[in-house]
Amino acid sequence: MPLLEVLQFGEESLQKPSLEIDKKEIKSKIFRRLVKDMLETMYAYDGVGLAAPQVGINKKLIVIDTEWPNKDAAPLVLINPQIVYKEGEIKSEEGCLSFKGNGMKETGVNFKEIKRFRKVKVNYTDLNNKRQSIEADGNLLSRCLQHEIDHLDGILFIDRVENLEERQKQLEKNGFKL
Ligand SMILES: [Zn+2]
Repeated sequence: MPLLEVLQFGEESLQKPSLEIDKKEIKSKIFRRLVKDMLETMYAYDGVGLAAPQVGINKKLIVIDTEWPNKDAAPLVLINPQIVYKEGEIKSEEGCLSFKGNGMKETGVNFKEIKRFRKVKVNYTDLNNKRQSIEADGNLLSRCLQHEIDHLDGILFIDRVENLEERQKQLEKNGFKL
C-alpha cells in the first residue's frame, strides 16, 4: 500500500482549522481507508502521532500510538477530539513529522523545551461512533494528544516555542522559512 505524503511546513493545510466529521462519514469506506493509511504512514516514518491536516485533509481526525513498537497495544484513533480538562505545566522535547524536510527519516526541527499542560482529559468519537474519554498525565501520550489536537486548529509546535532565536536557527538549518 502506498504511503501518504506527509506535508511539510509551508503547506497551507497545516495552518488551517479542520472541520468536524459527521457520523455517516465515520462509517464510510473512504474514511476507514484514510485511518488505515494514516496509521501505516505514521509507523513508516517512526512517528507517535499523525493528524489528518498533515496529509492534506482538514478534518478532525488524529491517530496516536505512543506504545509503539509494542505490538500488543492498539493504536488510538480519535475523531473530533476535544480537550475538556487541563492542569499543570510541563516542558519537554518535541518534534513533528511535518518538520523533517525531505529526508523523512532525519531528525528535522526539534525543540528541547515545549511547554504543555501536564495533565489533559480528551473527549472524542471512536470508530464505532461512540463518544469516549481519555486521560493522560505527565507522559508522552499527554504531550502527543495536545500536539495532534493543535494540528486540528492549525497550530504548530513551533508556535509554542518561546526562544525565537533558536526557532529561527532550527528552521533555517532544516531548510524551512517562516
Ligand atoms: Zn506534528
